[in-house]
Amino acid sequence: MKNAKFLFAFALCFMITSFRPSLFAQRDKTKVFLITLDGLRWQELFTGVDSVLAHSKSFTSNPKQLERFMNHTTVQEKRASLMPFVWNRVTKMGAIYGNRHFKNKVNLTNKMWFSYPGYNEILTGKADDEHITSNAKINNRNITVLEEYQRIAKRKYASGAFASWDVFPFIINKERSGVYVNAGFDSAYNEPLSREEKLLNDLQRQVPSPWSSVRLDGFTHQYAKAFIKKNHPDLVYIAYGETDDFAHDGDYEAYIKATHNTDALLKELWELTQVDEFYRDQTVFIVTTDHGRGTVPIESWKSHGASVKGADQTWILVYGFGIKPQGELQEEGQYYANQIAPTIRKIMALESKDVAQGYGKALDVQLNRVIQQ
Ligand SMILES: [Zn+2]
Repeated sequence: MKNAKFLFAFALCFMITSFRPSLFAQRDKTKVFLITLDGLRWQELFTGVDSVLAHSKSFTSNPKQLERFMNHTTVQEKRASLMPFVWNRVTKMGAIYGNRHFKNKVNLTNKMWFSYPGYNEILTGKADDEHITSNAKINNRNITVLEEYQRIAKRKYASGAFASWDVFPFIINKERSGVYVNAGFDSAYNEPLSREEKLLNDLQRQVPSPWSSVRLDGFTHQYAKAFIKKNHPDLVYIAYGETDDFAHDGDYEAYIKATHNTDALLKELWELTQVDEFYRDQTVFIVTTDHGRGTVPIESWKSHGASVKGADQTWILVYGFGIKPQGELQEEGQYYANQIAPTIRKIMALESKDVAQGYGKALDVQLNRVIQQ
């Protein structure tokens, strides 16, 4: 009798652990880092440096500077020299969408093909071509996943956004959302400031940016890191901007160097999360871009917008905790930028939005295995 009771209790325990529905039963713990690299073309991501642009006197002043990214025999080596973290590490711990050479496509659903409409689509999961038709500093009427999460979270810095471009406080609607936003030439203001943040505030005043509305990405990155270490937000958004601005300047050499540098920033963020108990083995990274750029005619690489063919072609990386390690997707498929916010909602157990209302579907990226504890 005693034994029977014991057996029954044992069986019950076994059943309870076995029926744990999925890895994401512990949803409250999963953190997300969403990162965008403004206007980085899928062409460079998947095939590396374009040797025509790198040898064009109009776009590259010193081709020697780019040789290390070109002197390779295979496309795989070439792209890995440009973005080593993506091609050596992300491939082993996630999925890479958008290599059109395999007919694996990611597109925007908005018809504008420039930044504000692109970021709105990524952050809300739905294009809004009726209201968002320019990059003007107008507060977004739509609600981003950052705001959704901040509203239900029970603490002040549950989400945080760091951006090089000064329109982000409006895209995220800083006034309404309650999300901590540090963008453009903002100083850190999450008091009390750390030593690093005080130094960054000084440096940012002392290092002039080449652009009037965009700061250098190193500042965005360091402000984000300082905030993350101090406040441990569950949902982090970082919007790097250099790639787009150097491209508009027509400076291919700088565009490529910014791409290579941004890959190193992604590596640093990944490593930061792996040495911090709050994030280690519970953080998902999603990396994407707000629009593509042209290829034909050749000078259209500088530009984007509805009149530039191919500027709606983008790409997505998803990697980290509980993500299927699929590597580069090499089969035909069609994906959209409006699937990113729904994927974040699913991972973080936020209320899902109706596909019938124009929202995208969450990407199928998660492992569905039972974790025994
Ligand atoms: Zn642009």
